[in-house]
Amino acid sequence: MIGKGSVGKSLDDKVFAITDRAKKAIEIYGKENVINATIGVLYDDNEKLVSLDTVVDTYRNLEVTDIFSYASEIDGDSLYKEAVRQIVLGKNYKDDFIGHFTEVIATPGGTGAIRNSLKNYLNPGEKVLLPKLMWGPYKIMAEEVGASFDTYEMFDETGKFNIKDFKNKVVKLLKEQENVVIIINDPCHNPTGYTLEINEWKEILKFLEECSEEKNIILLNDIAYMDFSKRNLNEYRNLFKNLLENLLVIFLFSMSKSYTCYGLRAGAQLALSKNKNVIDEFLDVNKFSCRATWSNISRGAMALLSQIVLDDKKLENLSLERNRYRDMLYKRAEIFLKESREIELKVFPYRDGFFITIPIKQDIEAVVKKLESENIFVVPLKNEIRIGLCSISIDKIYGLSKKIKQSIKE
Ligand code: PLP
Repeated sequence: MIGKGSVGKSLDDKVFAITDRAKKAIEIYGKENVINATIGVLYDDNEKLVSLDTVVDTYRNLEVTDIFSYASEIDGDSLYKEAVRQIVLGKNYKDDFIGHFTEVIATPGGTGAIRNSLKNYLNPGEKVLLPKLMWGPYKIMAEEVGASFDTYEMFDETGKFNIKDFKNKVVKLLKEQENVVIIINDPCHNPTGYTLEINEWKEILKFLEECSEEKNIILLNDIAYMDFSKRNLNEYRNLFKNLLENLLVIFLFSMSKSYTCYGLRAGAQLALSKNKNVIDEFLDVNKFSCRATWSNISRGAMALLSQIVLDDKKLENLSLERNRYRDMLYKRAEIFLKESREIELKVFPYRDGFFITIPIKQDIEAVVKKLESENIFVVPLKNEIRIGLCSISIDKIYGLSKKIKQSIKE
C-alpha cells in the first residue's frame, strides 16, 4: 500500500532488542548485577538519570503561556536564536565575527538540524560524507531525504584522524557531485569519544577551502556533545573566522545532552558565512522545511534555554553543575582506559564524551553473546562494540575491560 519511495524502509531495532534484554536481566538479577552500557544518556553513579537543577528549576518556573502557546516564529523565538548564537560563537560573537552573517533555525533536537541540512544542501541522489565509525541515524536520515552516503576511515595507523582518506573521499565526491556535504561530529565523537586537535581542524578547513574553489562545500559540524569536552573554545571558534564564501559551515546544536533535556526535543542549525546571500538563502529554505515538516518547535524548551543562557548567574550555575558531570565521565574513562592499557585491550582513541569503542576482529555476535551471558550489555556496531560510559556507575567500570578482553579471547 505504501508509496514507492518508502518501500522496504524499516528501522533496524537490534539495539532496542538488546536494551530490552538488559531490562529483563535487571528485573531478574537486580540492578547491581547487570551492566547496561547500551544507553546514550547521562546517569549518575547511582545509575539515576541526571537532570541539572538549574534546568529543572528554570523549566518549573516558566510562565504557563511560555510552555503551552505556539512559538511565535517558525524559525524559532528570537531570544532562543540569540542564546544559540552565544553558545556556539561566544557571548561576544558580534565583535568577534565582524563581517560575518549568521542565521539560526530552531529544530526538534539535533536530529531536526541534521535532517534540514541534508534535505536542503544535498541534490537528489548525492552522497553525504561520513566517517566509517559514526552515529548510525545519519545514514537513514540521508536515505529519508532521497540521498545516500559515502564513508572514510576515521583513524590512521597512528590513531590520529585519517586526513589522507578524508581528503581522498572528498576529492572523489568533488568529481561526482555538485555539492559536497560533510558531517563532522566533534567534539566527543559518537561512538569513539575522539575530539579533533585544533591542528587537525586547521588542516581539514584549509583543504575544504581549497576544494570550495571548485564546488560548493557544506560542512555540518555536529556539536551535540560540545559541553562535555575541555577543548579551548576560543581556539575552536577562531577556526571558523574568515573562511572562503563557498565553504558554508552549519553548526548542528542540540539541547538533549548539554541541558539533559532529551525529551523536550530542541536543537538548532546555525549557519555562518561572510556572504549575506548564502545566509538569506539558508534562512528561506530551512524555514520552508520547518513549516512543511514539524511547523515550529517546543516553546517551553526555547524559553528554558534563553532564560538560562542570557542570564549570567544561571549560566554560571549550570556550567558548574555540568562540569561536575563532565568530570564524572572523565573519571570513568580514566579507569577504563588505564585497565585496558594494563591488559592490552585495544580501544579507539578516546578524548572525551559519552562513549568508548573497542574494535572486534572476530565474530561480533559471539562476543556480544558471551558478554550478555555475564550480564554485560553493549551496543554492537559493525566490527566494534560501543560502551556507554555515560550510563554505568563507576564501581561497574572496574574490571569491565578485563571481562571484555576475556569475551574476545574465547
Ligand atoms: N548527534 C549525535 C552524534 C548524537 O549522538 C545524537 C543523539 O544521540 C544527536 C546528534 C541528536 O540528538 P537529539 O536529536 O536528541 O538532539
